[in-house]
Amino acid sequence: MGTPSRTPSKAASFLLDDGLFRALLLLGRRDGVFGYLMAQNQDELVFVPLGGVGEIGMNMGAYGFGPAFARKWLVIDCGVTFGGPQQPGVELVMADPTFLEENADDVLGLVLTHAHEDHYGAVLDLWPGFDRPVFATAFTAAMLVAKRAADNIVDNVAITQMRPGQPFQLGPFTIEAINVAHSIPESNALLITTPVGRVLHTGDWKLDPTPVGNAPTDVARLEAIGAEEGALPLALVCDSTNALKEGVSPSEAEIAQTLEELIAAAPYRIAVTTFASNVGRIISVARAAHKAGRQIVMSGRAMHRISSIARELGMLEGLPPFLDQDAFRTLPREKVVLLCTGSQGEPRASIARIARGEHPAIDLNAGDRVIFSSWAIPGNEREVIDIQNMLIDRGIELITRDDALVHVTGHPRREELKRLYGWVKPQVLVPVHGEPVHLMAHAKLGRESGIPNVLEARNGDMVRLFPEPLNFPGEVRVGELYLDGNVLCTPDESGVKGRRRLSFGGHVVVSLCVSGNGSIAAGPEIVVEGLPEVEDDDESLGQVIKRTVFGTLKSIPPKRRSDPELVNTALSKAVRNEVNAFWGRKPNVTVFVHRV
Ligand SMILES: [Zn+2]
Ligand SMILES: [Zn+2]
Repeated sequence: MGTPSRTPSKAASFLLDDGLFRALLLLGRRDGVFGYLMAQNQDELVFVPLGGVGEIGMNMGAYGFGPAFARKWLVIDCGVTFGGPQQPGVELVMADPTFLEENADDVLGLVLTHAHEDHYGAVLDLWPGFDRPVFATAFTAAMLVAKRAADNIVDNVAITQMRPGQPFQLGPFTIEAINVAHSIPESNALLITTPVGRVLHTGDWKLDPTPVGNAPTDVARLEAIGAEEGALPLALVCDSTNALKEGVSPSEAEIAQTLEELIAAAPYRIAVTTFASNVGRIISVARAAHKAGRQIVMSGRAMHRISSIARELGMLEGLPPFLDQDAFRTLPREKVVLLCTGSQGEPRASIARIARGEHPAIDLNAGDRVIFSSWAIPGNEREVIDIQNMLIDRGIELITRDDALVHVTGHPRREELKRLYGWVKPQVLVPVHGEPVHLMAHAKLGRESGIPNVLEARNGDMVRLFPEPLNFPGEVRVGELYLDGNVLCTPDESGVKGRRRLSFGGHVVVSLCVSGNGSIAAGPEIVVEGLPEVEDDDESLGQVIKRTVFGTLKSIPPKRRSDPELVNTALSKAVRNEVNAFWGRKPNVTVFVHRV
């Protein structure tokens, strides 16, 4: 992608601007509302979510430290959401970083918790402009480098590697990564220490005592945080994704066990589709295949890319090499396990092409077994079900999470959240990473568990964590940016509204030339796009439009026909109305009238 361009920048809007603030300071009153304002002259630690709070996706948040008008900012995560049916043509949606751009001189750096797209997918689009370091562990750093190469991105960012248990300093912030289990290697919680208080920013996590391909959540470190004598107060900014789910999430080891049984028992070929970044799951499938005397064939670019990073970092030690898809046809039916992309129904990914019988190197037959070791992210359900239906219709045995324990998400359920509260003993809880329904459930659980301050924020709300936790000392401008082809733009700039209008109403173009005396010199030419081609009383919609155009022109006296504007208005209106009478919907109409 080239260098995206967009119009900067809406101003950050604080409740008070600096001038007014300073004027009030001069009044020197320390009581009442002025007391509150005076407090703003002191160092404080605030948190502002810019994305991911009130939605699942495009996570981005900033911690600010200092007095209200001179804060330093530490940014955590910079993710994307995939464009949905409401944004036709838009691939990616990301948080609008205007607030950070307005404070760019005081932005110190970006720390990435892990390499899921909703946490790091926007780094290469948004971060180069800041010219500040990015901190990430080895796997996340390697993923970022590989993404840049795969997408031919020109802009670069400076990556500094961080390691769990080795705190580092960035301005007033001391940052320590703490390993947590999740559905990708090297997910990290971040302990952020400032002179007035600490934050545990959990990132995405779960408590899995037996994960695959990654160490378990570092419970000992978390317990130590809560046990520290005389420590600064702690705020917990925590994953809410599964706050509605009771109990404890199943372990990755249980998924591995199920996969092993399903692979051992399959009579013919097996294909497993999963998230390419779930290296633990890939390891489980590979081990099960090895045990069953089968070889792994891998198909899908993302899966090749991520497994080669995992192999370089020693995560696939002891596993035989994975074969490329060209080997598929040379292996006997009962000697192969295919690992492939497409678990989200992406139309060009392997499993979709296999289901349609269009894959150049791979075909499956009746009696073969396909396992969806995944779930459909909301919005992708229809595409996933369509692929599953095609497979079933071809006599292929389908196994999903509805049939067996073949997938678990990587987020904490209620019992896990409560255990974390018990370990780290937070004075403040800010639920993040969730839709309102998840955030509300998480806030309620926090209150029931006795956390004294539960701050319910949404994107753009500034919350003060310490001293004196406060839900709403300010708000900043937030919004979305679209990546539309190579162009990064705001929703208003994007043209998506017009695209949606076209998709509902189609388009009619009428073009003609009128001469000075009102005679039709050329045309009318009529182009119709996206309207139904049916006949009513032997007349098609195309014919209705033609009749309307000719009829309308005829009804205008020749003298007035030499006025292009008048002809334009009359034709537009008549075509819209006549099509509406036929179709029940008004099309988009463009009329060109040239005076010759
Ligand atoms: Zn994640
Ligand atoms: Zn996430």
